[in-house]
Amino acid sequence: MKKLDTGEKSTWCPGCPNSLILEGVKQALAKRTNVAIVSGIGCHAKIFDYLNLPGLNSIHGRVLPTCLGLKIGNPNLNVVGFSGDGDAYQEGISHLVHAARYNSDFKYLVHNNQVFALTVGQPTATTEIGFKDKTTMPFGSKIVPLNPIKLMLACGASFVARVFADIKQVRWILNEAFKHKGFAFVEIIQPCITFHPDTGYKEKTYSLEKTGHNKRDLKAAFRKADEFDYNTVKKIPLGIFYQEKRETFEEKYPQLVKLKKKEISWRNIKR
Ligand code: SF4
Repeated sequence: MKKLDTGEKSTWCPGCPNSLILEGVKQALAKRTNVAIVSGIGCHAKIFDYLNLPGLNSIHGRVLPTCLGLKIGNPNLNVVGFSGDGDAYQEGISHLVHAARYNSDFKYLVHNNQVFALTVGQPTATTEIGFKDKTTMPFGSKIVPLNPIKLMLACGASFVARVFADIKQVRWILNEAFKHKGFAFVEIIQPCITFHPDTGYKEKTYSLEKTGHNKRDLKAAFRKADEFDYNTVKKIPLGIFYQEKRETFEEKYPQLVKLKKKEISWRNIKR
């Protein structure tokens, strides 16, 4: 665990749930080797400064192609990408659609706090109708929020999950994501205590695993995804909505299969 510390002083607001995500991630990564991380731009991206791991603090919305690039460069890397909701669902949404289709074997954690927090709280694709900030005054946001879980199910993602920003939940889901071969999409509900506080979200959460939800049933996954409406916030299911075994991007191409087995290296691939 200590080896994962960079010693950098945290600049997240005191009490920001990003610190809990960081701790959960550290616990899940403590015994893993060959890990590389990628972050985008936003409050979430500071996690890159606090994890003593190689990787790239990439540009806004481009976490996913950067993860894919790392996997193509070295299919044996355990790649973890981090985005915020602005990064994933706004700037990077086209990459998200295709990452689900490509099914490259990396893990993607979206810190969803429903605002562009680093730039002081403008609405994102998951902000509820009526949310007010300086850019939406006096009427508040009028745009219908996106349902990222439904989007990922519709795009064919092979692992779709949601947890709350809680150390144990983050550790558990990242371990589950690593057991999965393929693209693992994990949304983390991470209230922004400064610009979008948790107004009773945690009390509305429940575990899909405890209700006997069948994670192989796509239709049931869609029904569960519909339960969390950002405008009304009545129920928030947490856990694995859907998981299926599917050929990964790295298994589709003979060069990548050979690279993975270390039978060839990029130096001797004939172009
Ligand atoms: Fe966390 Fe919000 Fe502060 Fe950013 S602005 S560090 S998300 S509490």
